[in-house]
Amino acid sequence: MLPPGHIAAGFLTAKALLNFVHPALTSQQHNHLLWWGMFFGFAPDIDMFYVFFRQRSMLVSGNEKISHRKFISHAPILWLIAGLLIYFFSSSAYVKFIGLLLWLGSWSHFLLDSIYYGVMWLWPFSSKIYALKDREVRWTIYERSFFKHNWKFFILYTKKPLFYLEILIIIVAIVISTKY
Ligand SMILES: [Zn+2]
Repeated sequence: MLPPGHIAAGFLTAKALLNFVHPALTSQQHNHLLWWGMFFGFAPDIDMFYVFFRQRSMLVSGNEKISHRKFISHAPILWLIAGLLIYFFSSSAYVKFIGLLLWLGSWSHFLLDSIYYGVMWLWPFSSKIYALKDREVRWTIYERSFFKHNWKFFILYTKKPLFYLEILIIIVAIVISTKY
């Protein structure tokens, strides 16, 4: 999934959590938590920048020897532990919610990443990638120029059902953000 879908899913996760728990926070804190949710929905993919740096190019499907999904930054348990540490060691209700969103926002990311290619759900016990479909699939795009390569990647991506799920998540997030 591309960043807009992950950000929208992070927003929906934060919105669902806040509506479910109804914490006693100011409306400003409430809004900030929605931004934190969006950030954590995307955050695991920050490791892409390390891949861009390693391969010395910003080709999205890149040199497929390095998949950022196999970095420990894509290991769900680390995000769970970091979120729970913040939750249990903080005395502020607002910061506790940042901890919860670190966990739940990043896990919304990992759930979506599990549809296609997959995620190391059992790391550190196993580095096996778990996916609903196309586990560890590789894109074969021979075009090496930045715009042509990423455009071809995008066109291939629009042929996947995941693309339509991503559009749906974005539309639901926009509707919810304007209505509630
Ligand atoms: Zn990811």
